[in-house]
Amino acid sequence: MRTWFIMQSLGLDTSLGEMAVQPPVNEPKPGFVFRKSDQAESGHNFHQMITPYGSITLHRADMLKVLTDNLPPFQAFQAHFSKRLVSYEQGSDSVMLQFSDGTSAEADVLVGADGVKSATRATMYRGLAKSAEEYDRNKAGNLRKFVQASWTGTYAYRALIETESLLRDNPGHQAATTPMIYFGENKHVVSYPISRGRVVNLVAFVTIPVGDERDLDGPAVTDVSKQEMTEQYKGWEPEVQTLLNCVDKPSRWAISHMRGLPSYVDGRVALLGDSAHAMATHLGAGAGQAIEDGFVLGQLLSQRLVTRANVSLALRMYDAVRRPFGNGMVERSRKTGFLYEFNELPEFIDKHKLRDSSKVELEKLAKDICKKWEVQWSALPDVEWKLAEKMLRDALDVSSGHDKPIMANL
Ligand SMILES: Cc1cc2nc3c(=O)[nH]c(=O)nc-3n(C[C@H](O)[C@H](O)[C@H](O)COP(=O)(O)OP(=O)(O)OC[C@H]3O[C@@H](n4cnc5c(N)ncnc54)[C@H](O)[C@@H]3O)c2cc1C
Repeated sequence: MRTWFIMQSLGLDTSLGEMAVQPPVNEPKPGFVFRKSDQAESGHNFHQMITPYGSITLHRADMLKVLTDNLPPFQAFQAHFSKRLVSYEQGSDSVMLQFSDGTSAEADVLVGADGVKSATRATMYRGLAKSAEEYDRNKAGNLRKFVQASWTGTYAYRALIETESLLRDNPGHQAATTPMIYFGENKHVVSYPISRGRVVNLVAFVTIPVGDERDLDGPAVTDVSKQEMTEQYKGWEPEVQTLLNCVDKPSRWAISHMRGLPSYVDGRVALLGDSAHAMATHLGAGAGQAIEDGFVLGQLLSQRLVTRANVSLALRMYDAVRRPFGNGMVERSRKTGFLYEFNELPEFIDKHKLRDSSKVELEKLAKDICKKWEVQWSALPDVEWKLAEKMLRDALDVSSGHDKPIMANL
C-alpha cells in the first residue's frame, strides 16, 4: 500500500492496475494463502492473509514499461546509457565520476541506485574507512564491512511457469490463481500469478543453517538443473511437487543483504534502493523501498530551497528519515523469512508442534507473520517526506532566509 500510494501520487496507478492480475480496489482483499507443505501427505491451507488492495502482483517488465512510458520527454533531460561507474571522487563543490569505458563526468550530486553490488557504496565506504584509519583503526575495520553486501544464507530458485501448462497437467491447482506461501523447515516456496494471470512466478527458498555467518561460495546467480531444485523438496506434499515439476529452466540466486548501513549519504553522494538497504525478499518490499527512497529524495532535490551550495544538507535529511525505515525493513524481512521456515520462533510458538502441523500453533505463527507485514500498510511514506521537508526548512531557517549550520544531531 505504501508503494501504491506513490504510484497514485505519480498518476501511474491506472496504467499499473491494467497490468495487474485483478484491478486493485481500496478495500480489504485476500493476499497470500499460507500452507504447510514439508510432509509427504497433502497439506492444508492454514491462513488467508487480508491486506488493503490484496496482492497487486505484476511482472517486473510490465511495471518497468509503465514507468519508462511515463518519463518526461528526453528533451527535458540528458540520459547516457551503457555507462558503468567504477568509482567517484568528491571535490569541494562537485563529484567526479569514473566509468569503466575510461570516460569521466562531473556532477553536482551523485545518487547511486546501482543495486546490491553498488560501486557507489563500495567507493563511499572504502573512502570513509580510509579516513577513519588515521584516528581509529577499529572504526575503519567496521566501515570496511559495508563495502560489500553479505549473504543471508538463503538461496532462491526462480522460474516462470505458464499457467496454461500448470493447469493442463494439474487441473484446479490453486497456485494458478492464488498467491501462495508453502511453509517448511529451512525451506519455503512462494508463488503468485503475474502478467494478468498468464504466468505464475515461482521462487523456492532453501536456507543453509548458519549460512549467514559464512561467505558465499560460488556464483551469486547461476542457471541450474531442474533436478537440483526438485531434490531440495523431496518428501514435500504433492501440491508443491506438481508445481515444481512444471519448471523448465530454473536459476539459483544467492540472496544477500546489507544490514545496518550507518549512513546513506556522504557529502554530495547518496545511496538509494538495494545499494543502501538490500534486503531478503520475504516481505516483497525491496523494490518498494527503493521507490520510497526516490519519492523522498526526488522531492527534496526539487525544492527551490535546495541549491548546489546546500545540497549535502538536503541529502542528510534524506538519510535521517529514510535510513531508520530502510534499515528496519532489512531486519524485518530477515526475521519474517525465519518464521516461514520455523526458525528463530517467538517463545509462545512450539517448533515441535509446528512440525506436527498443529493447527493452533500454525495459526499463532500466521498471526505473528501478519504483524510483520502490517508495516506495509499501517502508515504512508508521505509521513517521512513531510518530516524531511520540515527538517530542511528548519535547518535552512526559511523564515530568516539564511542558512543555519547543519543540525548537530544529524
Ligand atoms: C529472487 C528475488 C525476488 C524479489 N522479489 C521482490 C518482490 O516481490 N517485491 C519487491 O519489492 N522486491 C523484490 N525483490 C527485490 C528487488 O528486486 C530489489 O529490491 C530492487 O530491484 C532494487 O532496486 P534497485 O534499483 O535498488 O537495484 P537494481 O534493481 O538491482 O538496479 C540496479 C541497476 O544499476 C545498474 N548498475 C549496477 N552497477 C552499476 C554500475 N557500476 N554503474 C552503472 N550502473 C550499474 C544495474 O545494471 C541495474 O540496472 C526481489 C529480489 C530477488 C533477488
